[in-house]
Amino acid sequence: MTISAPDIAIIGAGPAGLFAAEYLSSRGFSVRIFDRMPTPGRKFLMAGRGGLNLTHSEELDAFLSRYRPSHPLIETAIRAFPPAALRQWCEDLGRDTFIGSSGRVFPKVMKASPLLRVWRARLEAQGVELALRHDWTGWDGLGALTFDTPDGAVAVKPRATLLALGGASWPRLGSDGGWAGLLAQRGVAIAPFQPSNSGFLADWSAEFRSRHAGQPLKHVILSFGGRQVTGDAMISAYGIEGGAVYALSAELRDALKSGTVTLHADLRPGVERAILASRLASGRKGESMANRLRKSAGLSPVSAGLLREAIHPLPRAADALASLIKACPIRLTGVTGLDRAISSAGGIQFAAIDDDFMLKPVPAVFAAGEMLDWEAPTGGYLLQACFATGVAAARGIERFLSDR
Ligand SMILES: Cc1cc2nc3c(=O)[nH]c(=O)nc-3n(C[C@H](O)[C@H](O)[C@H](O)COP(=O)(O)OP(=O)(O)OC[C@H]3O[C@@H](n4cnc5c(N)ncnc54)[C@H](O)[C@@H]3O)c2cc1C
Repeated sequence: MTISAPDIAIIGAGPAGLFAAEYLSSRGFSVRIFDRMPTPGRKFLMAGRGGLNLTHSEELDAFLSRYRPSHPLIETAIRAFPPAALRQWCEDLGRDTFIGSSGRVFPKVMKASPLLRVWRARLEAQGVELALRHDWTGWDGLGALTFDTPDGAVAVKPRATLLALGGASWPRLGSDGGWAGLLAQRGVAIAPFQPSNSGFLADWSAEFRSRHAGQPLKHVILSFGGRQVTGDAMISAYGIEGGAVYALSAELRDALKSGTVTLHADLRPGVERAILASRLASGRKGESMANRLRKSAGLSPVSAGLLREAIHPLPRAADALASLIKACPIRLTGVTGLDRAISSAGGIQFAAIDDDFMLKPVPAVFAAGEMLDWEAPTGGYLLQACFATGVAAARGIERFLSDR
């Protein structure tokens, strides 16, 4: 059944699609957003569960250096809609923001749901329609978009389409990357999906796993490939995850393609190696290793367990023990799957879109957000790029429709 068509169909009610809808409806276009899920913004809401990290306050050049690949289209989009603009947008919605100690920016309400609620009200006031439970299945022979809905298949032929279908991580939230096949059939070059900001697998002993899975490694320095990241990590039953690990995840993932890799953790970053060695040397004679690690080195049980996972039995010599604490090797055997990765790398290659984010092989169809082939660490860089490319593609649509 063919249904009435708006000027613009946006497929995907995540931050990129919703923000494009806000811009385009404010310019007088009729906009309908389609999404396969029963409610919009599922991943955005999930992102807000532990505190919605909207963007980052660091200086713009440093901010832009976080994206891989560093493509001019991402840079231009973020320069045109920088972190300050995203904060302003949030504040205009009545949700003040603040900068956390790490430079990350959050709304004061922390969760995404209060923000999404007022955002939806604004979209509704601007006349944006929301067609939920509409699963996009491609195009029919007449070039109309086709959807499966609970009431059967429907087709709609707008003047322009924005695809904002997200990446391929956490598929149960709606974004499963299933669109890649549909676009590849139309000649759009797609880079294979890979987990980004993901955890890694390690061969923990049964004892370590049972005693320490779920415990945090607080304030450690992780080093790999000449890069160091300070932050927290989390021991899981299968390996290791958490912010500091995610920050190295692109390099670790790429290195794992040629075999196992070893990550090093400085478990006592605040204490110099020589001082640590002298503290370990001055412990009571006959003291157990567990006590030495706890009292003289100040290690938590999980850090001490990690040392034992690295080398067993541990060296008694203070010097060797201090060196191990300052650079504890963690052998990683693989990457955890897309299912639990925060984001995905891969997607529509930049060579397949023009400067207005229109798909070169499919005229009048644009793309934005995580479905494009870029990746970035956690810290607000993901949402910033989704908002910025959302509005960049919306401006592209505006130009495209105005030219006609
Ligand atoms: C646990 C977790 C925590 C995160 N925390 C943060 C954070 O604090 N800061 C940050 O910057 N980023 C964070 N992210 C990442 C961020 O949420 C995503 O990068 C962002 O939501 C991507 O936005 P998007 O609009 O491109 O796509 P999405 O938000 O994935 O939205 C895409 C939409 O398209 C719909 N869709 C897909 N296929 C179809 C189809 N065939 N038909 C119809 N609809 C379809 C989906 O249902 C979905 O609603 C987090 C992610 C996760 C999983």
